[in-house]
Amino acid sequence: KVDQDPPLFKLLYAVQNAVKPKQGKSVVYWMRMADLRISDNRALSQASTEAKKEGVPLIALFIISPQDFLAHDRGARRIDFTLRNLTMIKESLSKLRIPLHIITHDVRKTLPSGVISFLKDLSCKSLHANIEYEVDELRRDIKVCELAKSSGISATFVHDKCIVEPGLVKTKENKAYAVYSPYQRNWLATLNDDVAHFLDESPKPNPNSEDVCKSKEFSHLFETPVPKSIPGFELDDEDRKTMETVWPTGEDVAFEILDQFLQTKARTSQMGAVDPLANGAQNSDKASRITKYKVDRDDASRNTTSRLSPYLAAGVISSRACVRATMKLQNNSDKVDGGKDTGIGRWVQELAWRDFYINILVSFPRVSMGRPYLEKYANVVWELHREDGNKGAKEGAYDSDPVGDGKDNEALKKWKEGRTGVPVVDAAMRCVNQMGWVHNRFRMIAAMFLTKDLMMDWRVGEKYFMQNLIDGDLASNNGGWQWSASTGVDPAPYFRIFNPYSQSKKVDPAGDFIRQFVPELAKLRGDDLHDPSESTADKLGYPRPVVRHHEVRDRALRRFKNPGEK
Ligand code: FAD
Repeated sequence: KVDQDPPLFKLLYAVQNAVKPKQGKSVVYWMRMADLRISDNRALSQASTEAKKEGVPLIALFIISPQDFLAHDRGARRIDFTLRNLTMIKESLSKLRIPLHIITHDVRKTLPSGVISFLKDLSCKSLHANIEYEVDELRRDIKVCELAKSSGISATFVHDKCIVEPGLVKTKENKAYAVYSPYQRNWLATLNDDVAHFLDESPKPNPNSEDVCKSKEFSHLFETPVPKSIPGFELDDEDRKTMETVWPTGEDVAFEILDQFLQTKARTSQMGAVDPLANGAQNSDKASRITKYKVDRDDASRNTTSRLSPYLAAGVISSRACVRATMKLQNNSDKVDGGKDTGIGRWVQELAWRDFYINILVSFPRVSMGRPYLEKYANVVWELHREDGNKGAKEGAYDSDPVGDGKDNEALKKWKEGRTGVPVVDAAMRCVNQMGWVHNRFRMIAAMFLTKDLMMDWRVGEKYFMQNLIDGDLASNNGGWQWSASTGVDPAPYFRIFNPYSQSKKVDPAGDFIRQFVPELAKLRGDDLHDPSESTADKLGYPRPVVRHHEVRDRALRRFKNPGEK
């Protein structure tokens, strides 16, 4: 049902029909979890322009909604990253005499009315925000629009997250693409048809007048502190230290990381002795990582990709800025290179994947509501993953709460902790657990292992990744999981099941990555490292494989071929 009437279009309709308010004493920009920056921020820029034109102050608002965090499986790392970025943003905005007011709103359902009463208290003329494309957020914003209208406040929600906005790139039949390649070709043509429009850089906000800091109405808004943590989502000290070191915050940092990827500089990072963040950046031929991206990007054991995903997911840098930087690198080309023949083109194609999955979320919202895109796989029989035998869940059917509250069974625990006895899977999972990030190939291998070798519901893995990745993003994570589980748009066909041992040799040929994250195996070399014998594993205190790939492969093939059958 939700697919037939996607909420994005209802929101855009509501925005079109917003009131044009005649009076008011302020303009409010509502900053969300995915637009944590001041530069090149469309809603912020528009709010600032309006405030200046009307001669009223601009107020920035951020709402902490713990129930939303829970509903979206937001992990403590992503929340901590948000708060750290907000601290910097608050300081930068204060220098422009713009307050960043922080509210905690406990009850998710009443958030729209909470926003409106805040706006009324400030005699707000108009509200500006960038669109959040998740279904619940769209529905919330539709409600905000309705309430704003009845209160005489104008509400404007604009596209900002994608390079080419969702809903624009369509098939000849005027439908959303469900296959990436033709989408990407059309996406690139659309982008190149009007580069100036799609990549337009929004100006930074104007400073408020000095009166704002002194006024009785607004000065208190400067005083709300950014909390250090949110109850229920705290990081332990060690994890916090790691996150702060590996993933520093702020727009300048994001641009520096982008610059290091585009230039020959190494990224200094602290992921360990064989540092997957710095490793490989010491290129002997001095070529930049982006130049070599076409060839190197799947060499997951080295630093071959940008590692910008936490910054893109939180909007600390805009994807537009990334594409503009690639054009600059190509002698200020007036066209975007998104072809497969160059490193730059290949990298831009990855940014297109990001847009693609957001487009899928918007066009087929059910995928984010626990449904497979390919409904024919809705009844694939999954192995139980809870200690209580998934009590209450209907076997084979799509349970509305597949993950449940019960304790994980032994196999799932082993996967989460990186103790499956399959070195590449364990290294990938331990990297997620320690760093909050792992290379795309390792994500695919770990996800394929959970859904095909362990035959466990993809939504269990999707949730775990969301809770632990610092770049956790609903659209990309859901896309990646449904790709790996063969249930999504343009997925890995179910019969192409990764062999984790041959994948291991392919993506970590020297074994550096495994040795770093599975130190028990550090002494091993060659095939022994990728697939240690039982006696070697026993000697080193490493677990034996939780399942045998060649034995369980057929189970997956059978169950996907005949959904519903065991
Ligand atoms: P680069 O190779 O430098 O690519 C540049 C940017 O393009 C990335 O930062 C990212 O924003 C985007 N991008 C690259 N690959 C993809 C992709 N396959 N899908 C969507 N966008 C892409 N990405 C997330 O941002 N958040 C997630 O929660 C997430 N979960 C995933 C779960 C699974 C099971 C899989 C297989 C993939 C997932 N991805 C997710 C996609 C991808 O793994 C990461 O975006 C990528 O590894 C980030 O590294 P990078 O910044 O060095 O990427």
